[in-house]
Amino acid sequence: MPGLPIYLDNNATTPIDAAVLDAMMPYLTNQFGNASSRSHSFGWVAEEAVNLAREQVAALTGADSSEIIFTSGATEAVNLAIKGVFEMYGDNGKHIITCATEHKAVLDTCRHLEKKGAEITILPVLQNGIIDTTAIKNAIRKDTVLITVMYANNETGVIQPIRDISAVAKENNILFFTDATQAVGKIPVNVIDDNIDLLCLSAHKIYGPKGVGALYVRRKNPRVRLSPQIDGGGHEKGLRSGTLNVPGIAALGKAAELCRLQMQEEALRIKKLRDKLEDALLNIGGITVNGDTEHRLPNVTNLSFNNIKGNQLLTAITKTIAVSSGSACTSANPEPSHVLKAMGVADESARNSIRFGLGRFTTEEEINFAIEEVGKIVNGESMSFPLA
Ligand SMILES: *Cc1c(COP(=O)(O)O)cnc(C)c1O
Repeated sequence: MPGLPIYLDNNATTPIDAAVLDAMMPYLTNQFGNASSRSHSFGWVAEEAVNLAREQVAALTGADSSEIIFTSGATEAVNLAIKGVFEMYGDNGKHIITCATEHKAVLDTCRHLEKKGAEITILPVLQNGIIDTTAIKNAIRKDTVLITVMYANNETGVIQPIRDISAVAKENNILFFTDATQAVGKIPVNVIDDNIDLLCLSAHKIYGPKGVGALYVRRKNPRVRLSPQIDGGGHEKGLRSGTLNVPGIAALGKAAELCRLQMQEEALRIKKLRDKLEDALLNIGGITVNGDTEHRLPNVTNLSFNNIKGNQLLTAITKTIAVSSGSACTSANPEPSHVLKAMGVADESARNSIRFGLGRFTTEEEINFAIEEVGKIVNGESMSFPLA
């Protein structure tokens, strides 16, 4: 039997890879210098670590290292991208296009800007979770300054047609930002091939630590300018002031490098396990997959269990398996996920959904256990172990 509980919530966060911890450890201990210190070796060593990390993150995303701005995570990078564009290009227009299934970081940032005079169009998605590119085309106005659509969804794993969307943005001279937090490191993402102007990512979703991430800001064709959101010492080209989180940045760099080297093999292995889990659970009956199964990350399956109460199900499952449900909280009447709602999934079905997110350290033994365990619960044998 595998060690319990089994962790299948890798879309919420991932454990730190041992090699990543090794890479950050020197900067938490002896090499504690400030990367901005120019007058001694402590500073130089720290700066060197940051430079290396910048190259590693750039290599994973097809960017140039000069286009990478380190932040405290994806949420901050989202804020910098969207608010930064709106403030910098506000004279050109105040219209932003986004999508109903975006992460709250994007939706709430847009909502905030609405109070500052922005006009936001939130486009619906098709039943499979994919956005209709024609709808984007039709939503474009003379005063549209930004299109922001995520690369892959955190709840369903659904991958958006990024190249089609960026092509529409280019044709209309509109900047394109993508929240690629879930996609980077799992599937190939390349800012040149995909024609992306701004992109965010986060270390803790790719086996790095929490509290560090990055924003890619295109430097040519076009050169994207941003209004900084944190002022101070002028770090990160003046776009993000504050002493650099050197250990975190070194870790993010290492995490990016590991993904670049292992992604292809890892994605195949994880996809096999995901498909095994999904096929076995679908065989039970009364279970449906939420979201497109073809354009989807290799590690996720979001399932609705239609013959069992969501709360009961989650309570039973999470005794042995760490997963998330498709509702915002576990209160008496939880609000169903805005992502599933936008896909037209019925409230009840959305509440009865579970997201299984596999990862680098998921084993076949764990998947076999999960299949058996979920099977027991769905078939009503969950009472054979006490529900505390
Ligand atoms: C996790 C996540 C975020 C937030 O990232 P943080 O680094 O935790 O701020 C944003 N967008 C998506 C799609 C995510 O999965």
